[in-house]
Amino acid sequence: MASSALIDDLVAANRILDQQGIVDGFGHVSVRHHADLARFLLARSMAPGLVTADDIMEFDLDGNPLDPRGRAAYVERFIHSEIYKARPEVMAVVHSHSPSIIPFGATPVPLRPIYHMSSFLGAGVPVFEIRDAGGPATDMLIRNPELGAALARRLGSAAVALMRGHGDVVVGGSIQEVVFRAIYTEINAKLQAEALRLGEGRVNYLNAEEAANATETNRRVFARPWDLWKRQAADRR
Ligand SMILES: [Zn+2]
Repeated sequence: MASSALIDDLVAANRILDQQGIVDGFGHVSVRHHADLARFLLARSMAPGLVTADDIMEFDLDGNPLDPRGRAAYVERFIHSEIYKARPEVMAVVHSHSPSIIPFGATPVPLRPIYHMSSFLGAGVPVFEIRDAGGPATDMLIRNPELGAALARRLGSAAVALMRGHGDVVVGGSIQEVVFRAIYTEINAKLQAEALRLGEGRVNYLNAEEAANATETNRRVFARPWDLWKRQAADRR
C-alpha cells in the first residue's frame, strides 16, 4: 500500500493544479510509488479538482490498474506509464491542456525560458507530433502504450514536451517539483507570448548557464510555493 502521506500529496497536487488553472475537467497528475518503483499512483477518470484519497488507484508500468474496484481509469494513463518506464529518475508526471502553451505546440515558435522561475525549460522543449507516431487520423489522445512510448521518446531528457494540438507533459523528481514546473510552464508561455508581441519578435531569454544555475537554485525552494498553493486550494473549498 502507498503511504497516506504520498496519497495526501497527490490529492493536494490535483487540487492545486485545478485551482491554478493548469487542469480543468481534464488533465491528470501521477506519482511513482515510493516503495515499488514499478508502480505509480493516479486518480480514477474524473475532474482533478474533485479528487479525494478514495479516488487514487495504483498502476503497473504497462498502465494496468492493480486495484480497480470498479473504478474507471484515464484513457491517457499510458502517458504516465511509458514515461516512468523510459525515465527512471522521474517521480511525478503532469499531463494538461495548459491553455497558454497551446500556441507554442502549433507554431514554429519554440517555448524558451523568459525568466528564472521557468529556467528548467532551458534544456529545450520538444514538440510531439502525433501524426508521426499515429498517422493522420488519430483523435489526438495517447490511447495506447505505443503512442505513450513515442511521446516518451520525443520528451527525451527534457522536463517538458508540448503535444501539438493537445497540451503538454511535464516531469519532475517529486510531486512538488512537477506541480511547480507545470504552473511555471503555463506562466512562461503567457509571458513569452506577451514579450514576443511587445518586442516585435525580439526577446532576450535566459542563456544556457543562467538556466542551469537558476534550476539548481529553484530545487531548494519548492516547499515555499507548495505550502501556499496547498492552502489556497484548501481555502477555496
Ligand atoms: Zn489530454
